[in-house]
Amino acid sequence: MSKSKSSESIKVVVRCRPMNEKEKAAKFERVVSVDVKLGQIIVRNPREAAANEHPKVFTYDSVYDWNSKQIDLYDETFRPLVDSVLLGFNGTIFAYGQTGTGKTYTMEGVRNDPERRGVIPNSFEHVFTHISRSQNQQYLVRASYLEIYQEEIKDLLSKDQTRRLELRERPDTGVYVKDLSSFVTKSVREIEHVMNVGNQNRSVGATNMNEHSSRSHAIFVITVECSELGVDGENHIRVGKLNLVDLAGSERQTKTGAQGERLKEATKINLSLSALGNVISSLVDGRSSHIPYRDSKLTRLLQDSLGGNARTVMVANIGPASYNLEETLTTLRYSNRAKNIKNKPRINEDPKDALLREFQEEIARLKEQLEKRSGKKKRRRRRRKGGEGSDGEDLEEGETEEDEEEGEDKGDYWREQQEKLESERKAIMEDHSLVAEEKLRLLKEKEKKMEDLKREKDAGEMLSAKVKAMESKLLVGGKNIVDHTNEQQKMLELKRQEITEQKRREREMQQQMESRDEETLELKETYSSLQQEVDIKTKKLKKLFAKLQAVKAEIHDIQEAHINERQELEQTQNELTRDLKLKHLIIENFIPLEEKNKIVHRAYFDEEDEYWKTKPITRLEDDQQMMTRPLSAVGYRRPLSHHARKSMMMRPDMRYKAENIMVLDMDLPARTTKEYQEPVIAPKVAAALESALRDEDEIQVDASGFHSSLGSTPPTSGSLKKPKSGRPRSVKKSSTPTSPFSPSSPGSQLYPQSRGLVPK
Ligand code: ADP
Ligand code: MG
Repeated sequence: MSKSKSSESIKVVVRCRPMNEKEKAAKFERVVSVDVKLGQIIVRNPREAAANEHPKVFTYDSVYDWNSKQIDLYDETFRPLVDSVLLGFNGTIFAYGQTGTGKTYTMEGVRNDPERRGVIPNSFEHVFTHISRSQNQQYLVRASYLEIYQEEIKDLLSKDQTRRLELRERPDTGVYVKDLSSFVTKSVREIEHVMNVGNQNRSVGATNMNEHSSRSHAIFVITVECSELGVDGENHIRVGKLNLVDLAGSERQTKTGAQGERLKEATKINLSLSALGNVISSLVDGRSSHIPYRDSKLTRLLQDSLGGNARTVMVANIGPASYNLEETLTTLRYSNRAKNIKNKPRINEDPKDALLREFQEEIARLKEQLEKRSGKKKRRRRRRKGGEGSDGEDLEEGETEEDEEEGEDKGDYWREQQEKLESERKAIMEDHSLVAEEKLRLLKEKEKKMEDLKREKDAGEMLSAKVKAMESKLLVGGKNIVDHTNEQQKMLELKRQEITEQKRREREMQQQMESRDEETLELKETYSSLQQEVDIKTKKLKKLFAKLQAVKAEIHDIQEAHINERQELEQTQNELTRDLKLKHLIIENFIPLEEKNKIVHRAYFDEEDEYWKTKPITRLEDDQQMMTRPLSAVGYRRPLSHHARKSMMMRPDMRYKAENIMVLDMDLPARTTKEYQEPVIAPKVAAALESALRDEDEIQVDASGFHSSLGSTPPTSGSLKKPKSGRPRSVKKSSTPTSPFSPSSPGSQLYPQSRGLVPK
């Protein structure tokens, strides 16, 4: 691969998988033939074969039939790309195609089988082998794994699998996924582990892995940073990023009758893929200045891989059987268009966000700290050595040179210090001349010193451990002894590469010859006779006519596909419009106009996230979203007087509990007793009593009592109560004795007479 900065096309290869057991059992016809030498895929339509239909021919950079080995694909197509990533280019591999045609097989393959391993595991091996063979270079390799499902980005390596990540853009480094986790890996084993964890997470969320993988895009990212001393004597860092993309199945998702959530899902599933198609079209088209990268997460994330700073290989996977014909043709056309995309790859040298640089700087900083520590130690020791030894410390012997070996010095130093303190402690314990208190104080002091010493030692150890850990992440080559077999292997690889390169060139030449054949052959020809000329020209004409027919058929096919697509889009649009109308209906009829206006006022479209959001409620004077809060109400919901605030705190009653209008007391227990009730008098009796009491004569009795009482004596209580409890007759009886002075004449006139007997 050249290091040129000029543009180069996306490389497109096609791989046809073998017939699977089911297809063989059902005896499906094979409609795809593969010309590996010429790099051509030939598709026959069995139905129209009788109608003299010419087979459709598509030419690619290279093609692989059902006998192709994973390693062939790797050596021929992917190895050069990964090599350039190691040089500091960006690289991308897309696997495109209908579900079940071998995208995952090409990308991942069968993991435990070295023969059938896919690109991803093969690239691991490649990267780390390259590093182990390198010299005077420092490498940092890290991996990320993400998935795009229904336009949501999920980090497959994060602990929290429910979280959705967002895309962000920076002017210097372009589009990136915010908060995407990446793991620094030191070996093939480690990076394989990262991939396994991601794959596990991918299948955990999915109820049906097959369906899930046919609807989601998985992107494995390997970033290789390499630091090397440049000719200018400075360290330079090159960063290569390899995106390994297993796309969603390209077949059309049926979306008839879907509504609401399901409709939304259906429209989102293939959004990224159709956006990818649109991006490819407008890139190839050349007329449109606007490339719709922003239409989907996938195209935005892989913007550089399509027409930007990257080398890109697209693998189109197809199936050979007749029932897949439509999809196969769509895939072939789609990838045929992609061939014409021009990228502008360049080596990423000294980017600002190189992690390796940060690592190097951090290591340098920590080392400096360590240096300082040991420097301090030495100084302290020297001072002590030359010092007074005022509190009876005995001085150490030896090791006076300043530039002694650091490593052994360190261990000795700590040991000595500890031993010294220990012996001092003992001395104090045994010293009987000291007062107990003094002894205790001294002991404590020593203990504290020992603790300090220990802490300092631990800190130093931690620091050096950290340095070691960080340094171990930086990989350097030449550790394995470059032995003979290794050399041989290298030679073998080199030879293999040469062969593949040779093959590629051969193919290219043959392709060119083919095309030139038709154009130029006739110019050189001389004809011996008119008849011969007619013959040859007729033959030529026939050939050209066939070609014309093929092109016409192609145009027809494409138009048909286009119409289909348009109809589908229209259908989706109709469904969405219907959905929208329902929403309108609800809003217009059930949401007050002013509320709606308020929300409309607050809503704005976030271009970054592509979502409508609402601004926080503000206290703008002009739009009356919210009144300003009076000063006296800060912290409360309504203004409160000083008195009320005080009372709120002091008094337990409800009066000043400003906000809490709910009664939060506990419910009283249900009552289990009854109110006491007097024995009931039968209603008839009660009524009789009542009416009896209401008798006119009774009133008269009272009145007589009243009259009589008008005399000298007040009426006794009995006279008033009697009528209530007793009968009129008894009243008469009792009234007589209670009013002895009552004149009989007026009383007798009013005396009640028995009803019905005496006429009134
Ligand atoms: P996709 O990811 O496109 O949906 P898969 O990679 O899962 O398809 O492939 C479907 C099946 O076909 C798998 O069982 C896989 O092993 C098999 N397969 C695909 N391509 C090949 C191939 N080139 N050789 C052998 N088996 C293949
Ligand atoms: Mg798959």
